[in-house]
Amino acid sequence: MTEKVIRTDAEWRAELSPEAYRVMRQHGTERPFSNDAFPKADGMFRCAGCGQPLFDADTKFESGSGWPSFYEPVVEGAVGETVDRGLGMTRTEVHCARCEAHLGHVFPDGPRPTGLRYCINGAALAFDPEHDAAQAEAMADSDAKGTG
Ligand SMILES: [Zn+2]
Repeated sequence: MTEKVIRTDAEWRAELSPEAYRVMRQHGTERPFSNDAFPKADGMFRCAGCGQPLFDADTKFESGSGWPSFYEPVVEGAVGETVDRGLGMTRTEVHCARCEAHLGHVFPDGPRPTGLRYCINGAALAFDPEHDAAQAEAMADSDAKGTG
């Protein structure tokens, strides 16, 4: 596994924008259509907290929800999941596996090939046009070898 990024609450508060802090560290949800205006280009959506690659732009799709939506994480293990029983619903919460920032939720109503819809707060993402999936996979491979 990737090395964890652990910071204090005060450090996160200083580092993140107020909106990103509210979403990522306090499990907030941004208003729909507030942060979905990312460029339609090749690249990587990284964690706005620790920079870990999370979702390839190729897996982004128009869900109409107003939140950036993806059908799969860039590599297995990039995101972690927990059961969220808030708001009287049972949902699957998604967080960055590296810094444990709350990202959004995953629902079983996405498109093929996975059938999943990762519904992610745009405030938790940083778009990086310079980084592609092949690089992330190479990094994951070398991590696997390093710990094996
Ligand atoms: Zn992170």
